[in-house]
Amino acid sequence: MTDMPDRYHRNILLFGADGQQKLRSTAVVVAGTGGLGSPLIQHLALLGVKRITSIDDEELDDTNRNRFVGARHTDPIPGSAKVIIANRLIRETNPDVESVPLECSLVSERAFAAIREANWVLGCFDHDGPRAILNELCAAYERPYIDLASDVPEPGIYGGRVCVSVGGQGCLDCLGLLDRKMVRRYIETDESRNREDAIYGIAAGALDVKGPSVSPLNGVIAGLAALEFMVAVTGLRAPKRLQTYRGWESKVVVSLDEPRTDCLVCKGIRGRPEEADVERYLKLSHLLKRRN
Ligand SMILES: [Zn+2]
Repeated sequence: MTDMPDRYHRNILLFGADGQQKLRSTAVVVAGTGGLGSPLIQHLALLGVKRITSIDDEELDDTNRNRFVGARHTDPIPGSAKVIIANRLIRETNPDVESVPLECSLVSERAFAAIREANWVLGCFDHDGPRAILNELCAAYERPYIDLASDVPEPGIYGGRVCVSVGGQGCLDCLGLLDRKMVRRYIETDESRNREDAIYGIAAGALDVKGPSVSPLNGVIAGLAALEFMVAVTGLRAPKRLQTYRGWESKVVVSLDEPRTDCLVCKGIRGRPEEADVERYLKLSHLLKRRN
């Protein structure tokens, strides 16, 4: 057994030096380094994983300051890339952890390569478009994937969910967690969007309004996801496939829903990146700058 520094002493009391060693050998990708990604990264750095590769192409803006863990009020706007703030957070929290900040879109060669090489992938997006692409990538490359979502669908209702997708035993698709219309709209070209909006009489941007987002809610979801990651990697217990946090009722519900058995992602493309042609996304240049 490798000697572990004292900083992991209280971790080891829970899951053993062996569990800590497993965490120290685990390279993770965090895709989406914002309100959900930043508290998650803090947990991963404190747990002492081997490497955190953070992927995000956005800069901090003033409206992010209510929830971006690690951002300082002196960080200039413009001029503070989210992954660079995440990188500083990791280094200042735990220098044992390698940090690889990738200031790029999920739809890029660099991000795809990082995902291929990761032991675990954690997705922290606020849109079902990149979520669906990452779901497909992780299945094709056979990477264990945890998706985080916080959600405020209507006044008085606020919560979120954590979905753990491992071994082709259920994913965002077959658990019915993706809004297909939203995914299609994300992937289609501007021209096709405009045509559809004109047909259905939708005002430009009406479907793309950002909702509320607060740090305690993101913190709960990031904590739940970090916990499922921790139990899965250390072997404390098997992770739960789907948990829903009902913040307005102060309740975490473990879903008993079974995934659809004919899932194209879990059963069709899993382990077959070439047949699935996941790299086709890299040819859709309009996705590079897409925000919603
Ligand atoms: Zn599936």
